[in-house]
Amino acid sequence: MAETVSIADNLAGLRRRIDAAARGAARDPVSVALVAVTKTHEATAVEAAIEAGQSVFGENRVQEAEGKFPALKARFPDLRLHLIGPLQTNKVRQAVALFDAIETVDRPRLAEALAKEMTRQGKRLACFVEVNIGAEPQKSGVLPADADGFIADCRVLGLDLRGLMCIPPEGRDPAPYFKELAAIAARNGLAELSMGMSADFETAIACGATLVRVGTAIFGKRG
Ligand SMILES: *Cc1c(COP(=O)(O)O)cnc(C)c1O
Repeated sequence: MAETVSIADNLAGLRRRIDAAARGAARDPVSVALVAVTKTHEATAVEAAIEAGQSVFGENRVQEAEGKFPALKARFPDLRLHLIGPLQTNKVRQAVALFDAIETVDRPRLAEALAKEMTRQGKRLACFVEVNIGAEPQKSGVLPADADGFIADCRVLGLDLRGLMCIPPEGRDPAPYFKELAAIAARNGLAELSMGMSADFETAIACGATLVRVGTAIFGKRG
């Protein structure tokens, strides 16, 4: 019960901060959607967030999401689930069946596999290209220099491409990275920008984020 109250309180406080950041950037608060990131948290925590009015959730692993979301989606048909972690091609079938959006389209083979599987299942999920905005060797995502070409390829494949997603390098001012992602989206005619987490969502909103992906500030630290 105590957990339920604090998740509702955390969500309300977070939404106030999102709205204030949007107004501070002369933006309409409704232009910023919250993706509540539930990785490592139990279905009961997701339910508490749903009861507090949250409807969009993010998970970074297909298998973990399969353990909690099918039952929740059956009970709450408005729930929308975004995949925000790396997707292996051998998990594409399960991912297309379960998720409503894939935020981590990051290589040609995956884009092709997703297009093919969506046709097979008769579904058209919202897609985001993940950009490795700091060009960090250990991170997934298409390199900034390759983004325009990859975006064009995704469109040729027929993916419903909505925007771009990034995770900026740790320990640096994220603003220049967020601004570069916004510039890549703008020159490619993409409206959505998924950027900003618990530590930096206000900066992301100032740089144009239309989706912020927040876990810790809602559900607490992950075990
Ligand atoms: C875990 C995760 C988040 C949320 O991070 P918090 O710091 O807990 O808000 C956002 N985006 C991605 C891709 C993640 O894996």
